Amino acid sequence: MSQTVETLRQHLSRIDGKGYPAYKDIRGSYTFSDFTLFIDHVQGDPFAAPSRLRARVAMGVAQFPPETHAHPSRLIALRDFLARAFAAVCRTASDRSRGSGKSGLIAMDMPGQEILERSSIVVTPEYVEARFVVGLPARGRRILGRPAAAMLCDDLPQIVTAALIYQNLNTKQLTAHLNAAEDTDHLRSQLDALGLVAFVADGAHLPRRSGVDDRPLQGSEVVPFHSPEPLRVTVDLPHAGQVSGMGIPMGVTLIIGGGYHGKSTLLNALERGVYNHIPGDGRELVVAEASAVKIRAEDGRRVEGVDIRPFINNLPNGQSTAAFRTDNASGSTSQAANMMEALEVGCRLLLLDEDTCATNLMIRDARMQALVEKAGEPITPFVDRVRQLANEQGISSILVLGGSGDYFDVADTIIRFDTYRPRDVTAEAKTVAAQHPTGRHSEVTGPWPATLSPRLPLAESLDPRKGRRAVSIKGRALRAVLFGREEIDVSDVAQLVDEGQVRAIGQALNLARERFMTGRGGRDVAAIVKAVMGEIETNGLDALDTRQSGDYVAFRPYELAAALNRLRTLKVR
Ligand code: ADP
Ligand code: MG
Repeated sequence: MSQTVETLRQHLSRIDGKGYPAYKDIRGSYTFSDFTLFIDHVQGDPFAAPSRLRARVAMGVAQFPPETHAHPSRLIALRDFLARAFAAVCRTASDRSRGSGKSGLIAMDMPGQEILERSSIVVTPEYVEARFVVGLPARGRRILGRPAAAMLCDDLPQIVTAALIYQNLNTKQLTAHLNAAEDTDHLRSQLDALGLVAFVADGAHLPRRSGVDDRPLQGSEVVPFHSPEPLRVTVDLPHAGQVSGMGIPMGVTLIIGGGYHGKSTLLNALERGVYNHIPGDGRELVVAEASAVKIRAEDGRRVEGVDIRPFINNLPNGQSTAAFRTDNASGSTSQAANMMEALEVGCRLLLLDEDTCATNLMIRDARMQALVEKAGEPITPFVDRVRQLANEQGISSILVLGGSGDYFDVADTIIRFDTYRPRDVTAEAKTVAAQHPTGRHSEVTGPWPATLSPRLPLAESLDPRKGRRAVSIKGRALRAVLFGREEIDVSDVAQLVDEGQVRAIGQALNLARERFMTGRGGRDVAAIVKAVMGEIETNGLDALDTRQSGDYVAFRPYELAAALNRLRTLKVR
């Protein structure tokens, strides 16, 4: 039964001065004039994780026109926009001077540069709902009832009204946000038909403010992107209309050039091009094939039962590379595992930056081949596999290179960056390749293997228990998933962009364990990941938690697989 605001106000003033646990009684739902407030969880003390609340506004009151949420791209963008609006109003309304611990806090996570599906805002044809946290005020451990009433009964209605009612929002900004997302999704969906794996619009701003600030670099020194003529294509978008830019064709593409000329900046933008960006970001119309995965070396990582034979065979200790396992991978074995794991779950575009790759996995030049015969070298370098991947498997690669010209022979497209300006140098590079033969011979004898060893994860190798808790799952920034007593290091998983994704992946692992894994290893990794993604597709991010939590942000199958693969207790059959 829903109660009135006045009941809540009276209740809060009645418990003023009492011990903190008396707050527990305010759990329940309350009818405000414009919305319903659900107090789902009340914190145990002022220093504990804050209380969890939801405010639900009926669509008849919120009045979002159907065109703001009818289309799936626009619905996600609307939710993202409302999360930004709600978080921003909370920041100004939150009054942390209201007592000890988290007293006075009203908050929702502020999204970054990407437009993503977020459980903090839910929009249905019937209502708009915000899920947020509140620090119920206390002095010491005594309830401050009147400030609590001011927060919940006076401040909160203002926040809700400002952020969740259509006519109170900046509707021009909202329209731009929705249109940007729809255009980007449209553009990405066109890539395949155009024979492309990526597109970078003319005029895009790629560089970021700093390594820890993802907003666009500003100032007159920024060189806007300008496509090389031979690679220029024009696309037609629902809102932006005709847009020209550089199309990166399927196949093998090199991005070359001197140090500090903007190569990695382009690759980083392509990594993020699997997501949509907010207006003003500069990368709104920079897209990559949705399944693109950034690959790097990651020595020290754990690897469990991965078939890395396409790259590594005959290890000196006689260890199997058909089901390679190690608690401490080397640069080359970690990178080989990263590639095979990405391909295992359907990656169709590999993104590699020479700076973060293992040199010996990338290249073995003629002199090294002459001195160290093949029998003494377990590695088949990527340069000898990259064409095969493209020709036989339909898997494209984009490589940033500054040091190795041996790739000229195997590339389809070569783009040179000179002071941030790209040029198509494919023909020149092919001439150089003809004039200066590498003298090396391919180390590949057969085709890319038709079948690889399957991996069937065992449910009991995932244990979410910690202390007295049956399930303890948390995210630690973009660095780690805390799963039970295990800390899964995801700091080298480049395409995680929001802490909410890390938390969601933690829950998704548990869902996978409970529902889609068995003790004997029933499904393979690809099937498990697919099943989890299907569950979220059907039931939304709420599939991840029994509580209606605002903590989660949508993630891709590749990052879910990446977390599973890095779990140090994982066992596969
Ligand atoms: P590379 O990988 O070729 O060595 P980076 O991509 O790391 O070079 O870029 C070097 C520096 O130049 C970075 O600080 C980056 O922010 C800046 N930069 C990149 N692209 C541009 C651009 N279009 N305009 C201005 N500065 C840029
Ligand atoms: Mg670089």
